[in-house]
Amino acid sequence: MNNDFILVLNCGSSSLKFSLINPANGSTLLSGLAERLLSEHAIINIKYNGDKQQYAVSTPFDHQTAISCLVAQLNQLNLTDCITAIGHRVVHGGETYCQPTLINDDVKAAIKNLARLAPLHNPANLTGIIAAEAAFPALKQVAIFDTAFHQTMPEKAYIYGIPYALYKQHGIRRYGFHGTSHYFVAQQAANVIDKPLAQCSFISAHLGNGCSIAAIKDGKSVDTSLGMTPLEGVMMGTRSGDIDPGIIFHLINQLNYSVQDVDNMLNKESGLLGVSGISNDCRTVEAAYIEGHDPQAALALDVFCYRIAKAIAGFTASLTTLDGIIFTGGIGENSDVVREKVICQLGLLNFNIDTDANLAMRFGKSGLITAECSRSVWVIATNEEWVIAEQTAQLLNQEA
Ligand code: AMP
Repeated sequence: MNNDFILVLNCGSSSLKFSLINPANGSTLLSGLAERLLSEHAIINIKYNGDKQQYAVSTPFDHQTAISCLVAQLNQLNLTDCITAIGHRVVHGGETYCQPTLINDDVKAAIKNLARLAPLHNPANLTGIIAAEAAFPALKQVAIFDTAFHQTMPEKAYIYGIPYALYKQHGIRRYGFHGTSHYFVAQQAANVIDKPLAQCSFISAHLGNGCSIAAIKDGKSVDTSLGMTPLEGVMMGTRSGDIDPGIIFHLINQLNYSVQDVDNMLNKESGLLGVSGISNDCRTVEAAYIEGHDPQAALALDVFCYRIAKAIAGFTASLTTLDGIIFTGGIGENSDVVREKVICQLGLLNFNIDTDANLAMRFGKSGLITAECSRSVWVIATNEEWVIAEQTAQLLNQEA
């Protein structure tokens, strides 16, 4: 076995996603997901050589035990020796981290400190790092920050219209997320049009459970729709996206919501779920819309798509040229309905869909979905794990 695989870890609050990736070509040797950690129903799925294994596990099963279970499997499959380093997805890097970063005590302290900006994500990321250090003491660990790609945004894009002191003293500004995904699909689109990324301008739409749009100019992020937290911007599965902030005061002062109620409502009960009343899952909402008997499902999809189109049109103000739009993420890669509704809103900007090409682009297929007379729109399957593996390997090569 060649010694050239990176173990990529993405530690969520109750999950651990892992994959063993060849950084040179993105091929995945082993992958899996430990879910519902810290609950009675924790489970771990591992895929290796086309074989899927599921392990129900005894409680308490936390990130540490999930990593121990992974290590035991890697040992059993004789794969431990082929891991050269570990790459971690870390959600918030603040203004400090705009590059892949070798993890040491200072970096861990900074990730902990940045939990004030990402209270759900950074603590889980840190738990994964500490557990991986204990399991693989000889291996270097690298942090790839989800905010890093957007650190090139100009001040006019990241400053909110609130007192500037809140930015200076408390870091309240737009940071943006999904950076690794936006970077990956932009690089892939640049390959498609055979131009260096540094000469390309795109608007990319990462549409999954979380959704964000990014304006990419000369290969760099110049604006994005997610903000200080992953609640701003377009509507998402359960998150509202932009609302009039005055609604929050109205809910608290007039309707007796507590701050926690508002937080839950905006993060967990809004978006596709809140408007449709049936589901946060785009497939369910779309199926109800296609059946044609559920006006709320139709409305949810209309609002969802209209807001994405408005965000895309808005981001043309950040660019001087536009090579095309990119759709990615679970919805962007699979929902011909969402893509068609979004593109139909953008006729004025000379976007025209090719219906057959759009229908064909699903389940991991990537390609152009616009008519010949149109500006380009591509569907590109994202692969954040590959970017994490690639950037981890590059950093370690530079250090060697
Ligand atoms: P992600 O967070 O990137 O895994 O994306 C999850 C979202 O993708 C969910 O809303 C799914 O309903 C949606 N999705 C996955 N497959 C399809 C599909 N075939 N058609 C429409 N939406 C899909």
